[in-house]
Amino acid sequence: MSDPIDPPHPPLKSHGRLSIRPTLQPRDLMEEPRLVKGAWQARVITLFPQAFPGVLEQSLTGKALDLGLWRLETFDLRLFGEGKHRNVDDTPAGGGAGMVLRADVVDHALTAAQAGAAADRARWPVVYLSPRGQRFDQAMARRFAGCDGLTLLCGRFEGVDQRVLDHHAIEEVSLGDFVLTGGEIAAQAVLDATVRLLPGVVGNAESLLEESHSNGLLEHPQYTRPPVWQGHEIPPVLLSGNHAEIAKWRRAQAEALTQSRRPDLWAERGK
Ligand code: SAH
Repeated sequence: MSDPIDPPHPPLKSHGRLSIRPTLQPRDLMEEPRLVKGAWQARVITLFPQAFPGVLEQSLTGKALDLGLWRLETFDLRLFGEGKHRNVDDTPAGGGAGMVLRADVVDHALTAAQAGAAADRARWPVVYLSPRGQRFDQAMARRFAGCDGLTLLCGRFEGVDQRVLDHHAIEEVSLGDFVLTGGEIAAQAVLDATVRLLPGVVGNAESLLEESHSNGLLEHPQYTRPPVWQGHEIPPVLLSGNHAEIAKWRRAQAEALTQSRRPDLWAERGK
């Protein structure tokens, strides 16, 4: 790191069984004795590290975090701020409303976050969550899950100074065509979708094969007990025990649903 910073308290927070010592210094992760070699790593730069693991602590993603199937580290952007007040933002050049996260501050946080990470972006993407980014989808989740790790930069206010995004060739990824207050919810959505594709996270790997977007189709409707509810029956074929017929019915349902609800996805399939 170019500027030595003297943080008021430990800037890094790790989650899960394989947590590491908080430090601002670049470190060789492989020297950490408790690291499961090869565990997928998420590093999140945020002004709100307390928002993590957030919902990722629950259920399958939380269990996987505890088991060390993936690792999560947060980097508190505030601790890389300038001066006594650790300023992270300033008014937009050219005027206008709001504040912009400073290039130098984000750069310092990013340098710390990338310590020990693969420099090859194909192995370790660096992503800024942004409404201007490429729309996140299942294919992108698969790409991220196939990497060694992922660094996520959460914006706030009006966003991040463009120069630091350009300088580090940071990929912009959007959760959808709407504007959130900050990148944290988007980061958790991206991590949830990615982590559940890692080996061993979802117990029944078969459930990943048929679900929506795994094969360009929306999933067929699901039913469970009771067999009759408020006068509505479960489609009889599902109770027939005839697996070939069930598979055929589900396929037809998935196709009909995709055609009617998502003509865009349906058109993509034909290509
Ligand atoms: N002024 C910006 C929006 C800033 S919103 C613009 O008009 O493009 C503040 C932060 O929330 C952003 O920096 C980004 O990190 C996050 N954010 C907002 N909407 C998002 C979305 N659809 N997907 C991912 N991140 C989003």
